[in-house]
Amino acid sequence: MTAELIKEPAACARCGRDLSSTSYELLLNATRLPHCLRCAVQYRPMLKRSLVVGLIVGALQTAINQGNFIFVGELPAALAWKIPLTFAVPFIVATVGGLLNARGPVVDRADTTG
Ligand SMILES: [Zn+2]
Repeated sequence: MTAELIKEPAACARCGRDLSSTSYELLLNATRLPHCLRCAVQYRPMLKRSLVVGLIVGALQTAINQGNFIFVGELPAALAWKIPLTFAVPFIVATVGGLLNARGPVVDRADTTG
């Protein structure tokens, strides 16, 4: 008896949605499994890492760019919108970098048990 090779479309390990062309390999229970973009964006370990990067880099960039105003205590209102943006940019860059690093082609799962 020969084992038949049954190809199943790859599915997201979290939500079960079929993956069309791109998957994001993320750790789930110590195993790298494919995820869809929606689940990859909500991946908590990556978001926590991006938050830490955003806080560290954002604080340094704020000190470099607006430190003279902050230390003097004269922060112009026009600069107030720049500080949240200074924290948001490294968060977004770290998140996009993490997603691009985890991105790969969809590999069909082959069931050889049949
Ligand atoms: Zn999903």
